[in-house]
This record gives sequence, structure tokens and C-alpha cells, in this order.
Amino acid sequence: MERKANIQGFNVDLLSFDEVIKSLLCAIDDGKNIHVVTINPEIIQNAKKNFELRQIINDAEMVTPDGVGIKIALKMKGINQEQVTGVDLSKKMLEIAGQDKFKVALVGAKPEILELAVKNIKEKCEGIEIAYTHDGYFDDFEPIIKDIVNSGAKFLLCAMGSPKQEIFISELKKQASGIVMIGVGGTFDVLSGKVQLAPDIYRKMGLEWLYRTVKQPERFKRIFPTLPIFFFQSIIDSVINKN
Ligand code: UDP
Repeated sequence: MERKANIQGFNVDLLSFDEVIKSLLCAIDDGKNIHVVTINPEIIQNAKKNFELRQIINDAEMVTPDGVGIKIALKMKGINQEQVTGVDLSKKMLEIAGQDKFKVALVGAKPEILELAVKNIKEKCEGIEIAYTHDGYFDDFEPIIKDIVNSGAKFLLCAMGSPKQEIFISELKKQASGIVMIGVGGTFDVLSGKVQLAPDIYRKMGLEWLYRTVKQPERFKRIFPTLPIFFFQSIIDSVINKN
């Protein structure tokens, strides 16, 4: 039976981190296209106003709870769910790609950040074959899509922020066959070493958003008033819709 919960009109898969990894590896073995949305409150609030993004999320094969806000919204419905973040999924899948020898493509971030991230990935993930890379600053999707398809990559990390990464993946999905594609936001900034993940103590307390906002104050206007509105609507949602 599929385990999903509905958060304000958006389905979220209730899978553990290990279950997500397992099903992505099965999809790679079976040659399936899979779009994974790593969802957070910001994406949900945007998708309520952006019909195309809403449609793409509804069509995605998998939606994992990335932000702590999603974990809290699920908790309000009585569901205990671990976070399955884009950064953690990226690290684990890249490590496995090196061992299992499936080709990867990396698209997103500024050129110098991507370069640093690629260097670190090659150092950490022995045997990895990075078949294609491109920074995230382009408007014409078509040539990049063609290059990814021709590269033979079975796994794509797309780190251009939302909604650009989701729109790009949905276009790629129409032309590719047998590729697992994850939209992973600022993950290359983390893999490059330029942005630090919140220490475990912040993550355990669900305060990584606070850590990131203190480190990058420009994020403040992105989370306010979006987060308070999301939580207010989550309270209403948890009363009206129990699952
Ligand atoms: N970015 C990109 N292309 C764009 C705009 C942004 O590749 O047109 C990159 C940006 O350089 C950064 C990432 O996308 O590396 C966005 O990170 P953000 O902090 O927005 O993602 P979050 O982790 O909050 O989802």
C-alpha cells in the first residue's frame, strides 16, 4: 500500500530515508523516469499561486519531506515522519553511484560553486562517473536537456532553486527515458563547502532554518511571512483534513 499524506492539497510520500534510496535504486535498475520533489513550506506556498508548479508536483513520482516545516505539519496530523532532505539524498546517491557505476549529471549553481562541488564529489565518491555538468544560469533548456539525454546519465541532481529546477526536470522527463531526477535547491552550495549545514544540535531541534537565516540574512524575506502563513494554514488543514 502506498503511504502518502496530504499537506494543504499536496501529496507527500511517507517513506523513510532508506526506503527512498531503495526505490530510487530500483528505478535506476528498471530504467524508469522518476522525478523527486524535495518539498518544503516555501515550495508549497509558491505552488498554491503557480498552477504549473502545482501540476508538476502532482505529476512527480515521489515527493519527500525536506523542510522541518513539513515534518511539523505532518506531526499536526498525528504522523511521525523523518525528514528526507535533498542534501542527504544527494550525498548518499552520489556515494552509491560511485560504487554501482551509474553515470550522473549535475546541473545548477554558479559555475565556480559547481566546479568546487564536482571536485569534492570526485574526492569523496570513489569511482564516480560524472557524465555531464552545467551551471544553473541559462534560459534555453533545450540544448542542456539534449546533452543530458545524450550523456547516458541515469541520475540527475538539479540544484537551481524552485520553481526553475522543477520546471527543468518536468521538461527533461518528456524527452528522457530511464533517469532519476531530484530537485535539490542549494545542495551544490553545501557540497562545494561554501555553505555549512546547520550543526546536528540545530537539526535535531528543527532549527536549521534559524541557523541558515542567521548565516544568510538575505533569506529572511523568503521565510517571512511565508512560514507563519504556512503554519497557520497547516493548523486549519490538520483540523479539516485528518490525512
Ligand atoms: N540557482 C541556479 N540558477 C538560477 C537561480 C539559482 O542555479 O537561475 C542556484 C543558486 O546559485 C543556488 C541554488 O540555485 O545554488 C538555490 O538555492 P536556494 O538557497 O534557493 O535553495 P533552497 O536550498 O532554499 O531550496
